Amino acid sequence: MRLWNFAAGPATLPEVVLEQVRDELLDWRGAGCSIMELSHRGKEFSGVIAQAEEDLRELMGIPQGYKVLFLQGGATQQFSQIPLNLLAGESAAYVVTGSWSKKAYKEAQRFGAVTCAASTEAAEAVSGGFTRLPAAEAIQVDERAAYVHVCTNETIHGVEVFDSPRLLARVPASVPVVADMSSHILSRPMAVEDYGLIYAGAQKNIGPSGLTLVIVRDDLIGRAGPQVPALMDYRVQADNGSMLNTPPTFSIYVAGLVFKWIKAQGGVAGLEKVNRQKAELLYRTIDNSGGFYRNPVAADCRSLMNVPFTLADPALDSAFLAQSKEAGLLALKGHKSVGGMRASIYNALPLAGVQALVSFMEDFAKRNG
Ligand SMILES: *Cc1c(COP(=O)(O)O)cnc(C)c1O
Repeated sequence: MRLWNFAAGPATLPEVVLEQVRDELLDWRGAGCSIMELSHRGKEFSGVIAQAEEDLRELMGIPQGYKVLFLQGGATQQFSQIPLNLLAGESAAYVVTGSWSKKAYKEAQRFGAVTCAASTEAAEAVSGGFTRLPAAEAIQVDERAAYVHVCTNETIHGVEVFDSPRLLARVPASVPVVADMSSHILSRPMAVEDYGLIYAGAQKNIGPSGLTLVIVRDDLIGRAGPQVPALMDYRVQADNGSMLNTPPTFSIYVAGLVFKWIKAQGGVAGLEKVNRQKAELLYRTIDNSGGFYRNPVAADCRSLMNVPFTLADPALDSAFLAQSKEAGLLALKGHKSVGGMRASIYNALPLAGVQALVSFMEDFAKRNG
């Protein structure tokens, strides 16, 4: 039996996609073998990856002049691949709003002069110290910077950027914006043209782990120096259609099915409606609990995808986790740096899952309040 899965990643996938994978697993569309067993250079898989790219371009409105790369290594590999490709002896600036952007900033320091454009890390330990976005005026980026890096949804702290142009209003227009969108890509319409490079590990909103999407503007390709390994060079990957070596074919195939599923939901605009309903219901339940539950994130940047919350009495945490699991609600334990609980309510988690969660939460509060 499938239960409601609130895992942060790898995360829940649309049930109909899993059913289709199951149905065509042994004999993929009459090929006589599974998609995993077909050459990545054959006509069958070439069709799969081309269709996935076409659907992604349509869903996100990716303009001409951007390449879509299907890579490996996770979002974490991009923490080094981005400076390796884009720094080219210049500096870069990082906006630090949570654990992931902090990690990206730290890794980039291995490759050159990078600066912290702004940090919202607070001295007090509330929610691991990250509960808000910086003011636009507080973001300092030199006009010679090769890029400015932001994480537009901090998965651990539940801090989301809803208006990148406003947040980055003081950044010189000549500086490209690089965004880690791992945990909210495809959750609502986003203007790709606001960014020089967008990247995302697949295992939150796209498909199975093992695939990493990079959407990169043409002028940012080809800046890597001669020491950069060929596999890590965006130019080489773009010239080889993401197939310099064997790509993660199964993950790309499932991602393609997820893209079709998103189209059937009315695209990212259709998903946004449901995602907002889900998040509003959950935050309302937290805010109306009379202090039993608490989410410390500022109202204008509360994530639609990752909702951390604490119980006023942490002694109840283990009972909450055990009983929620019994009620068919999986993986609600919060990240250790924040504590408490976290409900990840990605695209594939239906409204009914959040309804089940909030009725459990209300009941638990009644019994223990
Ligand atoms: C999960 C996550 C990562 C790390 O992804 P991997 O694919 O495991 O490397 C990086 N950034 C964000 C925002 C994430 O949510």
